[in-house]
Amino acid sequence: MTSPPILNVAVSVPLSREFDYLPAADGAAAVPGSRVLVPFGRRQQVGVVMAGASRSALPDNKIRRCIATLDEEPILSADDLWLLRFTSDYYHHPIGEVMATALPALLRQGKALHPTLSFVAVGTAAECVDIEALAQRAPRQTELLELLLDAGGGGIDVDTLTEQLPGWRRAAKPLFEKGLLQRFDARREEPDAEVVAPAQAGPVLNEHQQAALDRIRAQPGFGAYLLDGVTGSGKTEVYLRLMQDVLDDGKQVLILVPEIGLTPQLVARLSSRLGVAPTVLHSSLTDTARLASWRNARAGTAKLVVGTRSAVFAPLPNVGLIVVDEEHDHSFKQSEGLRYSARDLAIVRAKHCDVPVILGSATPTLEVLHHCRSGNFTRLELPERAGGARPPNVRLVDLGRVATSEGLSEPLTRAIATHLQNDGQALIFLNRRGFAPTLICASCGHVAECKRCDSRMTVHARERSLRCHHCGASRALDQHCSVCAAEVRPLGEGTERLEDELRLQFPNYRITRIDSDSMQKRGAIDEALKLAAEGSANILVGTQMLSKGHHFPKLTLVGVVNADQGLFGTDFRSAERMAQSIIQVAGRAGRESRQGEVIIQTAFPDNPFWQRLIDGGYAQIAQDALAEREQTRWPPYTWLALLRSAAPRMQDARAFLEVAKRIVEDRQPDYLRVLGPVDAPMARRAGRYRAQLLLQSSDRRSLHTLLTDLRPILENDAAARKVRWSIDVDPIELF
Ligand code: ADP
Ligand code: ZN
Repeated sequence: MTSPPILNVAVSVPLSREFDYLPAADGAAAVPGSRVLVPFGRRQQVGVVMAGASRSALPDNKIRRCIATLDEEPILSADDLWLLRFTSDYYHHPIGEVMATALPALLRQGKALHPTLSFVAVGTAAECVDIEALAQRAPRQTELLELLLDAGGGGIDVDTLTEQLPGWRRAAKPLFEKGLLQRFDARREEPDAEVVAPAQAGPVLNEHQQAALDRIRAQPGFGAYLLDGVTGSGKTEVYLRLMQDVLDDGKQVLILVPEIGLTPQLVARLSSRLGVAPTVLHSSLTDTARLASWRNARAGTAKLVVGTRSAVFAPLPNVGLIVVDEEHDHSFKQSEGLRYSARDLAIVRAKHCDVPVILGSATPTLEVLHHCRSGNFTRLELPERAGGARPPNVRLVDLGRVATSEGLSEPLTRAIATHLQNDGQALIFLNRRGFAPTLICASCGHVAECKRCDSRMTVHARERSLRCHHCGASRALDQHCSVCAAEVRPLGEGTERLEDELRLQFPNYRITRIDSDSMQKRGAIDEALKLAAEGSANILVGTQMLSKGHHFPKLTLVGVVNADQGLFGTDFRSAERMAQSIIQVAGRAGRESRQGEVIIQTAFPDNPFWQRLIDGGYAQIAQDALAEREQTRWPPYTWLALLRSAAPRMQDARAFLEVAKRIVEDRQPDYLRVLGPVDAPMARRAGRYRAQLLLQSSDRRSLHTLLTDLRPILENDAAARKVRWSIDVDPIELF
């Protein structure tokens, strides 16, 4: 291979274009998909060659030469590059930054794909050494020599040697001097995917599972399927059969999950049932481990790749199936930087590679349901719980009519007692961490607020602090009102307060709180989920961390402490979102033989939302919400792009969006409604003022054409220099 005369290189800078370079003078071939080191301004940057060209629009004396070619062979295939370019185009985000999101950190920094390691091995002279004589004089040298003689000519890498024989360096010195040992650098050998115990057989599928499986198997190549199954209906069993097919074919499977830390059960189940240890890709891996997973995926040796959002970019030369579990989960959408939806990219990728993509959920998003209605996706329903478990009974508790203590109503407390007495387990759900959401002065009513955000400080009683959940600011818990010096008190409940109250009321039971505060230590979540699954924790109290996909066999009662948070939401997605969160947490109850019960505390029991949810389930809420969105022309019936801007002064944030608005309106697009600019719902956050401009389009393609033109104009506008701005395509949060 030789390099093309001109290289179009993606460099990690916030500009939506590629940069032309001449190939490095090192003679190594730089082709699309290889990394190069380039001069950029006065710095050096790692870039990726996107394409080659025979000439450049730049004058000859302006084109700079790459400093070095970093890869012997391209690290990204044509398909990988295609996906990255698609992502850049669709999300209107600079290609260099897309690349930076997609590549593991070490590759971004220019480190080698295959790190070379230092090895130590015996030299030929070592064969003739009189070991016994040496053992008399120098036992440590002997130990080292024997270890290396056993290892043979390949030797042992330095890290492993240090692990096996910590003091080896000292002993090695005289041996090197005598020529008995030698040192060399070599590539680390790629281990094949670990084959664990032979695959275990699964249960016989029920008729719905079988029908879904047959339907997917019947159509080779691309197809997008929604596996719409109530919680515990056996969706995972269907994935497992499909994965087995693909593995038998020698191909790779990609499984995207919301949060790996929360799904140790799934990872364990995959390996025991398929007999292959999954290769995991997620953000809490070390950089080295992440690169190793990425490399194995790229080499095709990783057959089962399980990862969070960014794993959608993992290189998979031989992909045969993509699964997105809990399709509705918001973590699939990145909320900063490159604001991509991993679910949507998974679908695009599956189509490009002509393989099936399965989206699983008990509470599918309206976008996906709409695609099913219009025939783009196939909806496969699993209407019943598998293995004979029945759906839980759901009951409302009217907070206006019952006594409560620190947020727990009497009926809920009684139900907890009954379930515990019957050897059941209870889950108390409140999506608000900390002790209390507000600290208020008992005398003047002053409320403790964040100094940098338009928000209240949350009371964290365990660490005696006030914390802002928006910017992370924290300060010591006030003892007295900062205005009138009177006594202050925490108002409302968070999970810490509930935990205290539960301990008071149920002193003889084991209570575990699961939220991002209590689960900070590495391994804490695994441990807590294990206790929960074994049933040795009697009461679980926590946030949405507890609601995601878990299977706790003994859990029979779910209590939703404050269900009203989303009832009057201003976002058009409030109803969908709230129904999802309640159905998901309710779905933890009674997953095995015992009947589950769900108690929902609400101050608005007459709100029609509740009756619809209880009588018609999520399907009813979704159907109503779709009808409403069609009437009001919100997604999925229209397409949105949200321009955000933030600056130390509100007028700058606004001015930038006014520029954008003018450019848009000059084109007089009849397909477009322009809303704003307005202050963001939380106008000040982390010391910056935030504003937004919403573009709502009846035509997706026209919206994208508009954004393609708009982006470079905005990049070069003077108003952009005073703000941080972004384009969010298909936003899921309107703030
Ligand atoms: P989901 O992914 O829909 O939440 P799972 O696949 O985890 O559901 O299944 C829920 C429970 O039902 C699991 O314990 C699983 O082993 C069991 N299960 C699934 N399918 C069957 C079946 N066909 N027969 C018996 N048990 C089943
Ligand atoms: Zn703050």
